[in-house]
Amino acid sequence: MVIISGAAMGQGESHARLLSEAGASVVLGDIDTARGGQVAEEIRAAGGRAHFVKLDVSQAADWKNIVAEAVATYGKVTGLVNNAGITSAGSVLDCEEDVWHRVIGVNQTGVYYGMKTVAPAIIDAGGGAIVNTSSTLGYYASPAAYAYQATKGAVRTMTKSAALSLGVQGIRVNAVFPGLVDTPFIDHHRSNSALDNSISRTPLGRIAQPGEISQAVLFLLSDDASYVNGAEIVVDGGMTAGSLGSL
Ligand code: NAD
Repeated sequence: MVIISGAAMGQGESHARLLSEAGASVVLGDIDTARGGQVAEEIRAAGGRAHFVKLDVSQAADWKNIVAEAVATYGKVTGLVNNAGITSAGSVLDCEEDVWHRVIGVNQTGVYYGMKTVAPAIIDAGGGAIVNTSSTLGYYASPAAYAYQATKGAVRTMTKSAALSLGVQGIRVNAVFPGLVDTPFIDHHRSNSALDNSISRTPLGRIAQPGEISQAVLFLLSDDASYVNGAEIVVDGGMTAGSLGSL
């Protein structure tokens, strides 16, 4: 059974559907209880095993609750996808304190709570895998989204540290680094030039569909990735491979 945070829409929803199709029981956590419950219901209607639990990833008590419900519902926890995340606008000078703390709370502390709370249950189950969601903005910079980039860079190194400490306990810990993905997350960019700019820098000439990130998550959770630990899978159409211009 796999716990997925932020599973009510976007990539998390897609991960839940694909993992279910691959045969996993899935426990969906999200602050959006209406949509999260609906997605779980649709997965069950399609013949899968899915359970929704309200989860605010920035709250330690919510993590304890989802692990307890997950174990009570499906038994062993063998996987975790730390997917929930929020974005932020603004450079270092524009980033207000409340935005800084909110984004750190969800994107960074949420991943810390997730790994800290779920890993013991995976160890109890005899081992498994964790996938954290960083971003291409976790390793290259833009002048904007200062707080967001701080959290995604942290997720990168938190993943590698946990790959070392949890690897010896039978848990593989890896990260995915999506480029732009076609989810509600980027809705605020649809009416400006940011999207076109990114597409023009992407060799494949488009943004990703959520399922293209889910395939990487499925691989990292599966036995096909049995020797993959502390790794980074960039799923960005080649946007960060280099410059499309000549020299
Ligand atoms: P999305 O906005 O479509 O979905 C995010 C989900 O997380 C929503 O269901 C939302 O309700 C949930 N969520 C928000 N705050 C939460 C909280 N405190 N606790 C629990 N759930 C919460 O976004 P998405 O595109 O699916 O993004 C998923 C992940 O991918 C995020 O970590 C994001 O930073 C990352 N990412 C997205 C893109 C992109 O272009 N969409 C690119 C790179 C990385």
